[in-house]
Amino acid sequence: MGRVYNFSAGPAVLPVEVLKSIQEEMLDYNGTGMSIIEMSHRTKPFEDMLNEAIQDLRDLMNIPDNYKVIFVQGGASQQFAAIPMNLMKNMKADYILTGEFSTKAYQEAKLFGDIKVLASSEDKQFSYIPDCSDLDIREDADYVYICENNTIYGTKFKKLPNTKGKPLVSDQSSCFLSEPVDVSKYGVIYAGVQKNVGPAGLVILIIREDLIKDDLNIVTPTMLKWNTQVKANSLYNTPNSFSIYVCGKVFKWLKSLGGLESMKRINEEKANLLYSYLDNSKYIAIANKEDRSMMNVTFKTGNKELDSLFVQEASKRGIVSIKGHRIAGGMRASIYNAMPKDGVIALIEFMKEFEEKYLK
Ligand SMILES: *Cc1c(COP(=O)(O)O)cnc(C)c1O
Repeated sequence: MGRVYNFSAGPAVLPVEVLKSIQEEMLDYNGTGMSIIEMSHRTKPFEDMLNEAIQDLRDLMNIPDNYKVIFVQGGASQQFAAIPMNLMKNMKADYILTGEFSTKAYQEAKLFGDIKVLASSEDKQFSYIPDCSDLDIREDADYVYICENNTIYGTKFKKLPNTKGKPLVSDQSSCFLSEPVDVSKYGVIYAGVQKNVGPAGLVILIIREDLIKDDLNIVTPTMLKWNTQVKANSLYNTPNSFSIYVCGKVFKWLKSLGGLESMKRINEEKANLLYSYLDNSKYIAIANKEDRSMMNVTFKTGNKELDSLFVQEASKRGIVSIKGHRIAGGMRASIYNAMPKDGVIALIEFMKEFEEKYLK
């Protein structure tokens, strides 16, 4: 069987060029006579690869010199605890709740300090992004937290909250590298890479230098202290070498496309195709129009049995992993960077046929 159109929310589709290049290098990476996953992380070829990946990421995102980049393990969920542990001085932080992942991050942070909910869209099942232009942020809050793209509900912050000078911490797991961002507006950006960049088990953190400390106010395991990996250039212990290697290849792929401006144009084109069809169809779009994600497109038929039938019939056509998250229901088409435009066109074709047949 050939490749399918994989609309999975994560782990998710990767560029075919990248997969082929990994395949080619599997027996002999760069003349070393071994694959990257058999190689000590204390060797020059590995360290060169790591440093090149970091530099390529810096170039792509235009990361200012006063930000550090580290690769850590434990998934984005591990950072739900690491963030308060690393950033709390006054033991207070303010959170904006726009879905499952910000709620989980909030609940975890509550284990460590006094956490305030500044705004929430739970009243309408997280289908929108609340107005964050004038929030009641506490004077002594250590940071303001958001999940920038809500993978499950398909919403995205189109405008960052006004944090009134407090560092903004953003979970960008499902929108990382999908478009240019102004890194200087953030205190911390972090992303689990399995959504839009690479294999699961790796998190990329971009942290403003002044927020990295060694003497933390909370007893913090060495491995959760950001400064441990900052000081060791992400080599304090054995890193997820394979995932870093694949991410490095994806960074090169993005550069070859023309960087994040080009990627944004491609992503907009794909998302506009799908949303404009959706808006003129009998399907129901789940996310509020102004707050829609370019990466995760959520919709439903309005009938649970038809939703299941949709998922079944789609998979027969090579359109797979399109079932919505169990909490949100309906369907979710994750159209990350590596989803080709042809995949979106095939999905729309299928949706039209299904609509004609069943959605009268
Ligand atoms: C998937 C996801 C997470 C959780 O990632 P893990 O690596 O499974 O811990 C957190 N935040 C967002 C926005 C996600 O999409």
